[in-house]
Amino acid sequence: AAMVKETIRVYARVKPLGRRQQAGIYSVDDDEKSLSSLEIIVPRDLADGFVNNKRESYKFKFQKIFDQEAKQDVVFDNIAKPVAECVLAGYNGTIFAYGQTGSGKTFTITGGAERYSDRGIIPRTLSYIFDQLQKDSSKVYTTHVSYLEIYNECGYDLLNPRHEASRLEDLPKVTIMEDPDQNIHLKNLSLQQATNEEEALNLLFLGDTNRMIAETPMNQASSRSHCIFTIHISSKEPGSATIRRSKLHLVDLAGSERVAKTGVGGHLLTEAKYINLSLHYLEQVIIALAEKNRSHIPYRNSMMTSVLRDSLGGNCMTTMIATLSIDRRNIEESISTCRFAQRVALIKNEAILNEEIDPTLMIVKLKKEIQELKDELVLVTGKQRTSELSQEELLQLDELIETFLEDNDPNSTLDVGADMRKIKYCFIHLKLMNDSKISDKKLLLQHNSEEKDTNKEVGEEELKKLKELLQQRDNEINILVNMLKKEKKRAQEALFQLNSASAGSTVLEQSLCVNLEEGQSPASSFSLKEAKDFSSSVHRLPFLSRQTEGKMSLGCQEAFEVFKQDHADSITIEDNKELLKQRFAEAKCLGEKLNEVRSKINHLKGEITQRHIQRAVLAVSSPSEELNTLDPVEEQLRTQIEEEKKSYKIMFNRLKGLKVEIEHLQLLMEKAKMKLQKDFEVWWSEEAQNLQQEKPEMVSSSNIMTVYPQLRKPSQHLSINSFSETTRVSPSEDPAGKNNSITSSNPISKTRTPASSSTSIPLTGDSQADADILAFMKARQNILQKKG
Ligand code: ADP
Ligand code: MG
Repeated sequence: AAMVKETIRVYARVKPLGRRQQAGIYSVDDDEKSLSSLEIIVPRDLADGFVNNKRESYKFKFQKIFDQEAKQDVVFDNIAKPVAECVLAGYNGTIFAYGQTGSGKTFTITGGAERYSDRGIIPRTLSYIFDQLQKDSSKVYTTHVSYLEIYNECGYDLLNPRHEASRLEDLPKVTIMEDPDQNIHLKNLSLQQATNEEEALNLLFLGDTNRMIAETPMNQASSRSHCIFTIHISSKEPGSATIRRSKLHLVDLAGSERVAKTGVGGHLLTEAKYINLSLHYLEQVIIALAEKNRSHIPYRNSMMTSVLRDSLGGNCMTTMIATLSIDRRNIEESISTCRFAQRVALIKNEAILNEEIDPTLMIVKLKKEIQELKDELVLVTGKQRTSELSQEELLQLDELIETFLEDNDPNSTLDVGADMRKIKYCFIHLKLMNDSKISDKKLLLQHNSEEKDTNKEVGEEELKKLKELLQQRDNEINILVNMLKKEKKRAQEALFQLNSASAGSTVLEQSLCVNLEEGQSPASSFSLKEAKDFSSSVHRLPFLSRQTEGKMSLGCQEAFEVFKQDHADSITIEDNKELLKQRFAEAKCLGEKLNEVRSKINHLKGEITQRHIQRAVLAVSSPSEELNTLDPVEEQLRTQIEEEKKSYKIMFNRLKGLKVEIEHLQLLMEKAKMKLQKDFEVWWSEEAQNLQQEKPEMVSSSNIMTVYPQLRKPSQHLSINSFSETTRVSPSEDPAGKNNSITSSNPISKTRTPASSSTSIPLTGDSQADADILAFMKARQNILQKKG
């Protein structure tokens, strides 16, 4: 983004002193070309009181000095207009007035109450901005204003409709919020839209009135409070997705007067304390900013410095007006004001063009582009194209494809012309033909197997297979029921409800279902590979509720999910994921910064070129000695480029380091995942083996009882507690594979007595799940009775 880097411009304005005019207290040396200087001469009698009474005059440099007779329009033209122009161009701007009470801050910023010609910077700026906006029809502008008063470290919305009716203390306080990018947001400060100058002026007036009403002799709000009137402008070119946003703060600060330390002889020019604490913090911020290599700037100390954070040393074109009321009594305050101004003049700001892309606008723009391209296509081809091919065209294509397929010549081609729609259609057509061929083959195979079915031998084999399968399923169901209960306790939600959760099924889930349906013959059973491929990002699948044979591998998936949650390594994975995310964000941020610096460098290079051209032109039009010498501006630009290059290099190296770290983290995560899968495989097969060993024959459901003591409990009283006791030992931590309550040393599970056979089915207490399990058991018994 374009950037303007320059120091804060500092102006001085001396208030007319009327009849009390005293000559010889100050003098202005107004140099048209360079900075102007203001000399304050300390009268002899006063100078005697100075600690250092050798100095009798003080000189200060200003961008320009507006002496007593300077009128408001001149002040506006010189100070505010250039800032307003920047704001219109998309940069942030700030103008603040600083000086003791009565020196003319309010007069300068807002204006005098009597004459129209006394209008100050705010009304003139509003007028100027709306004028410009109206003239510029190339963009669409939106303007808002806000008016904030800070009094005693509390913020108040001067445009709050309730303001008129209530006392300052009763209004909701405006508070500062900082987002993760350290941008400041103000809560409870209203942004009022102003579509024209009149509306904006009404708002200014409303705020000023509110400020006045709130003021009492007790709180002296006007001298002790800071007022920030802000004009917010956003603009975009029609058809563009880029929005520019800028803000102009017009700030009337509290009186800068100080209290001298008492007890020190000759207090003049000794360090005096601000009456207003936030001005003290403002000064600290400014001192910090003026110091080179200072990394911490104490913005947070006061509300005012927080609000003006961007305006001081940040993304803003900032201007200060030092208001002076230089009479005998005010010499000390005037010198302090000028000293403060000199410090401010050292601060550099970096104003960046505030552009952002609006995604909805981007879509509109792209759609338009597509339409334009389509139109262009029509022009080029001379044919109107709709998104769909006509019936006639389709027929033509079908013919073409057919002749192409039938053509035995290996050199034959299918030429449909440069039309994506036709090309796509051909591919789809061919795919469909291919698919139907495959299904033909399948039909043929099925037919064959039906023939075999009549064979009795095969029938018996089938029976044996089915029995085996059944046993395997029994194993599975028991492992799974265990896990289900455990899961239930942890999540406090029935796993079976996940049926509904999977409604918004993901692509992955769909692909999994397809796998299963097309899947291997039932006998090949649940495959661990599938569990492997199944990552946590995949939706939970409906489990058991729609259970049929052949889908058991779903259970295995589910088991893996639960296992994973229980596994110590999964925490590491999650932690690493978090860390990775962070690193990615950092890398992204760095990358953006790098781009910024690169464009900065390019910009500087552009400036040098510009400079060359200018000098070349000058050399031709008015040759002079000077032009043959080195250009100091160019030299400066070059050193600037060098500096930017240095910071580029540093950032680049940091990014490189980050990349290494990210790759490392990714590897670690990959490793942890693999380990998790392996552990699961081991555990799953061990679990299955245990079940096989411990129940050599599994004829009736009542047998389950003796084999799985941890399930022996009346269904409704199924002790979740004791259950989790027996299974808390992580499977992976149980290398012997004896994680079964029979061998478990857990006293609770040992003391558990077998329940009656009527409760032998391992129910979960969840009605849906229990129904599923019961149905499964019944089906199992039926099969056993028939075939066994
Ligand atoms: P501050 O806001 O710094 O306390 P004000 O702006 O209220 O000071 O000014 C104090 C008084 O001086 C007001 O009556 C104001 O109208 C008058 N004043 C200030 N500056 C000028 C000026 N340049 N020309 C004429 N009157 C001025
Ligand atoms: Mg004032």
